[in-house]
Amino acid sequence: MSVVSTGTVYIRPQHLRFDGTPPLWWLLTSRRWIGPLPINAFLIEHADGLVLFDTGQDQTSVTDPDYFPKGFTGLLNRRLARFDVAPDQTLTARLAGIGYDIADVHTVVLSHLHIDHVGGLPELRHATIVVSGEERRTLERPFAEVNGLMRNHIMLPGLRWQLITPQPTDDPSLTPFTDVHDLFGDGSLVLLPTPGHTPGSLSLLVRRPDCPPLLMVGDLTFDVHLMESGQVPGLGQRSRSRESTRKVNIIRQSHPDLVILPTHDPEASARLAVAEQTKPASGR
Ligand SMILES: [Zn+2]
Repeated sequence: MSVVSTGTVYIRPQHLRFDGTPPLWWLLTSRRWIGPLPINAFLIEHADGLVLFDTGQDQTSVTDPDYFPKGFTGLLNRRLARFDVAPDQTLTARLAGIGYDIADVHTVVLSHLHIDHVGGLPELRHATIVVSGEERRTLERPFAEVNGLMRNHIMLPGLRWQLITPQPTDDPSLTPFTDVHDLFGDGSLVLLPTPGHTPGSLSLLVRRPDCPPLLMVGDLTFDVHLMESGQVPGLGQRSRSRESTRKVNIIRQSHPDLVILPTHDPEASARLAVAEQTKPASGR
């Protein structure tokens, strides 16, 4: 299991943590940035091939003036986040830097379809792209672009999509999650619905015999410590974010060694490095 970051992002303090301010207000008036935060993509070596969770930010987003929409939507996007992606921070280059060939990536799981999670898709036309069916349907909604969903950077020709719908499970170790998607049917990679940030957001639970379990939560939180205290980010459907956060905090209690890996948490890569050296808790 490895992590690479395809550049960095700066966000508003009110985005990191909901403080009661209406999103449109702070989007238009905030003068502060928090960052740099990583834009992580997680690589998992599975017996069936290499699996990626999230694909980072497209390098052309900082070089192509037409990458983002124009007008009010473009203004909101520029007010929402600032990206730095160096020429050597493409997904292909970052994976090569840790000794992997992107051509060997077999399956890609997208936590959700925001721009900083789908940026590697142009480099992944050979892989199967897994996303929740509910998330993909949000692309058809009015004002999808205002909500950070850019169809022209997602529905690329040649991509092979697999839309999943979580199914009921009787695995007691996944409580309180009642509906999940077992990616390869062997229980090692299990997708948990964690809506809130977006309607179809997914988290990926990685269970391995020789290491602590890992949970990649996408943008459910930007900071594990905030999540532990039940706080949620300032964008998305906060009631659903709170419910997903509550569920993840319950599963942490039943898996005390569970390592939480948010896509933009600056501590995620260090936490993963420690997890890779750690023996699992006894009794599992
Ligand atoms: Zn993100």
